[in-house]
Amino acid sequence: VKDPKRHPLIVGSGIAGLYVALRCREMGLRPTIVTQGRLEESNTRYAQGGIAAAVGPDDSPARHFADTVKAGDGLVDRAAARLLANDAPARIAALARYGVPFDTIEGHIALGREAAHSRDRILHAGGDATGLSIEETLKRRVLEGGIDIEERTTLRTLGPGDGVGPVAVVVRAPGGAAVTHEARPVVLATGGAGNLYRQSTNRPFAMGEGIAIAFRTGALVADMEFVQFHPTAFWREGAPRYLITEAIRGEGARLVNDAGERFMLEAHPDAELAPRDVVARAVEGEIARSEHPHVYLDATRIPRDRLFARFPSICRFLTLYGLDPSKDRIPVAPVAHYMIGGIATDLDGRTSIPGLYAAGEVAATGVHGANRLGSNSLLEGLVFGERVALQLRHPTRGGPKRPARTIELSLPPGDGGAEDTATLDMIRTRLWEDVGIVRTPEGLRAALAAMEALGRDVEPSSKGTVPGTVANAALTASLIARAALERTESRGAHYRTDWPRRRKIWERHVGLSARRASRGAR
Ligand SMILES: Cc1cc2nc3c(=O)[nH]c(=O)nc-3n(C[C@H](O)[C@H](O)[C@H](O)COP(=O)(O)OP(=O)(O)OC[C@H]3O[C@@H](n4cnc5c(N)ncnc54)[C@H](O)[C@@H]3O)c2cc1C
Repeated sequence: VKDPKRHPLIVGSGIAGLYVALRCREMGLRPTIVTQGRLEESNTRYAQGGIAAAVGPDDSPARHFADTVKAGDGLVDRAAARLLANDAPARIAALARYGVPFDTIEGHIALGREAAHSRDRILHAGGDATGLSIEETLKRRVLEGGIDIEERTTLRTLGPGDGVGPVAVVVRAPGGAAVTHEARPVVLATGGAGNLYRQSTNRPFAMGEGIAIAFRTGALVADMEFVQFHPTAFWREGAPRYLITEAIRGEGARLVNDAGERFMLEAHPDAELAPRDVVARAVEGEIARSEHPHVYLDATRIPRDRLFARFPSICRFLTLYGLDPSKDRIPVAPVAHYMIGGIATDLDGRTSIPGLYAAGEVAATGVHGANRLGSNSLLEGLVFGERVALQLRHPTRGGPKRPARTIELSLPPGDGGAEDTATLDMIRTRLWEDVGIVRTPEGLRAALAAMEALGRDVEPSSKGTVPGTVANAALTASLIARAALERTESRGAHYRTDWPRRRKIWERHVGLSARRASRGAR
């Protein structure tokens, strides 16, 4: 490579990775996409409800901004939210230009409603197949653009570079040897961490590997205590935790208990359309109270034609399980869904390490505060992805602010123990039980101790040894538990039984970083 600055390495191929790659190519750079599975493998592909933007006649970016700030429960970075809301219409226009077929009604863009949005502002495609449409469209453009792609290639660690950016160590599957890329700008677009939890809507890869890699390299991470749980995933023994989008409640579906009673009326003035964290906790509370493993989503009030036209994928899925949502109630329960925290970045996607950028769910821009507003996450991949692409073209200095409460942690010394899937199961069970929707101090301490002990076992024992999936999963899981233990209050998606209320002193972020002596490539 003649000029590595012009050859950024983009890790991940969801909305954020594909969009950054496309924009880089359009700006004359020669990006390479490295992605763990096939190009289309991502959480993006499974997004249903849609993507938020103030494009309706009665809407404005100012309202979108205000709703985002309100949902974020006192912790939203206002500059990031303003940027998100203001830039949304332009990013939607870019998607439409690439060819995303947004749904229309009588020639006008169709807009849905979701919880905590004060206006109808959710654009969708193929009814409830928005993510699929976006992923397929961007993929097609990437292939047409002749962008270099390395599929089935997993980033495992980063090493110090030469000022341009870090060196990336990747492993080509199956069972391939480690390959080191030369130093160049690296964009982490590796997505979320929902699959660190036993019950999750996320794809198997989503275990926060990018966060662990960045942290080990010395990058600041933030807001790790904020994991969003979605209140309504399909709940049946042996069935996948398939998401039943919030948009269905926006169309009038109601949550009821086993006795058919609506319990959200008492929980919040907005009932089923209350913020996600409120609904998830209310559902969890109802499950605990009733000792029934789930509650029900009742969509039978929505006219059958409308239900099947607007939510074709969900209706098809339910049919496989013998349910007709126009007649039958849908069993649902809350599951892990979205990682609000991640690698700390500034508004241009710059991390605390020169030449290392993050975009999409893996990044913590502060835009979601303590609780993400539904349909803002596909959008963040585009808005901040655009900024990253502009930075790659003309890099300038900058980086995230270090939160006043930043804890320096030592990486475990590491025995280089063998990895196995039983260990991953243990992590997923631990986080689900002890760092879940309702957290106790004992549970958090036990989970942290377990993750640290595991880290000591599986962390590589020497520099030059490449960490595996379990070592990275254990590290990210320990960061979640550590931050959750630190925040002695309840706010947004983070709820503790010993501190059930918000506290003024906690109107700030929790940062985590690796102690300097233990940084560096391994
Ligand atoms: C079921 C479901 C429904 C959702 N519905 C909506 C919705 O309606 N609206 C909305 O706004 N949001 C929704 N979300 C959230 C949204 O889909 C995600 O936040 C968003 O798609 C994340 O995009 P991303 O590009 O950051 O990551 P992803 O789309 O998750 O892509 C991450 C990529 O990184 C790759 N990768 C990961 N680790 C590595 C590694 N170590 N090396 C190489 N490659 C790696 C993966 O293979 C993948 O290609 C939903 C999420 C789920 C799971």
